[in-house]
Amino acid sequence: RAKALPFTAHCFYDPSMDAAAREKRSLAAALREALASGGGLMLHYQLQASVTAGEITGYEALLRWRHPTRGMIPPSVFIPLAEEMGLIPALGAWVLRRACTEAAAWPHPWRVAVNVSPLQLADASLPGLVAEVLAETGLAAERLEIELTETAIVEDQERALSILRAIKALGVRVALDDFGTGYSSLKTLRSFPFDKIKLDRFFMAEIESSAEAMAVIRSVLAEGVERPEQLAILRAEGCDEAQGFLLGRPSPAVSSGPEPEAAASAPRPPDAAPVSEA
Ligand code: C2E
Ligand code: MG
Ligand code: MG
Ligand code: MG
Repeated sequence: RAKALPFTAHCFYDPSMDAAAREKRSLAAALREALASGGGLMLHYQLQASVTAGEITGYEALLRWRHPTRGMIPPSVFIPLAEEMGLIPALGAWVLRRACTEAAAWPHPWRVAVNVSPLQLADASLPGLVAEVLAETGLAAERLEIELTETAIVEDQERALSILRAIKALGVRVALDDFGTGYSSLKTLRSFPFDKIKLDRFFMAEIESSAEAMAVIRSVLAEGVERPEQLAILRAEGCDEAQGFLLGRPSPAVSSGPEPEAAASAPRPPDAAPVSEA
């Protein structure tokens, strides 16, 4: 076989691919090390609020990783890496345990939303892990919300559905994240027991101009609310729950501080809304 392919092997040699693979292995090794020591990993929290009541409903836990020499690595880089390198079970368990431990100390109505990778939803041990962490931390089940993306349910629908049902049977809430970015129809989604649909922030860009975008904003949580005008539309249309830089950025500590109240007051001039990621 090797004899038959002398120049294909030669043609496929690409030093930059080699470097990329080395880079990936080195990053994965550092992430594995962070997991083993707990160093460099932390959760930031971004508030979710009821825009009609102007009250905090909960916080989404967002994983952060500071590499020992390279500084902050974005989740868009290290989450896919963890998925590819088999680190998701350990990383996912770390996030769940940490988020539930911290949330157990928050004021009682506040929920914590935890992102779960599609790989975790394909693993039948997830409901057991969730039950174990709730028991361990004493967090009431209804204060935990699991966030899943559409990719988690398209692969093997039956399996995903049965794992979801087992999680819901514990009393945990389930939210569909980034709705509008995948290919699932609302009809498919209706057969899944979601408690909440999080409208992807790309919708926010269209909210002022599109009737379709308008039609789906009732009964969803709107992500990526950056401008007061967007918040005003959500409120007028009865879309009650929202998350975005206007209300608060992901931060290392939760607070009941002035951000949601400021956002819940009358729409402010656009220059009052910071929009770039810190
Ligand atoms: P996501 O779950 O959709 O989280 C929301 C993302 O949007 C966060 O990015 C947040 O910082 C950003 N965001 C929030 N409000 C605004 C806004 O008003 N404008 C803009 N432009 N962005 C906003 P982040 O923290 O970089 O996380 C990116 C993604 O990484 C998350 O998207 C989620 O899919 C994934 N991720 C983060 N933490 C975890 C985790 O613990 N486990 C897993 N499996 N995935 C995670
Ligand atoms: Mg999320
Ligand atoms: Mg999202
Ligand atoms: Mg997203």
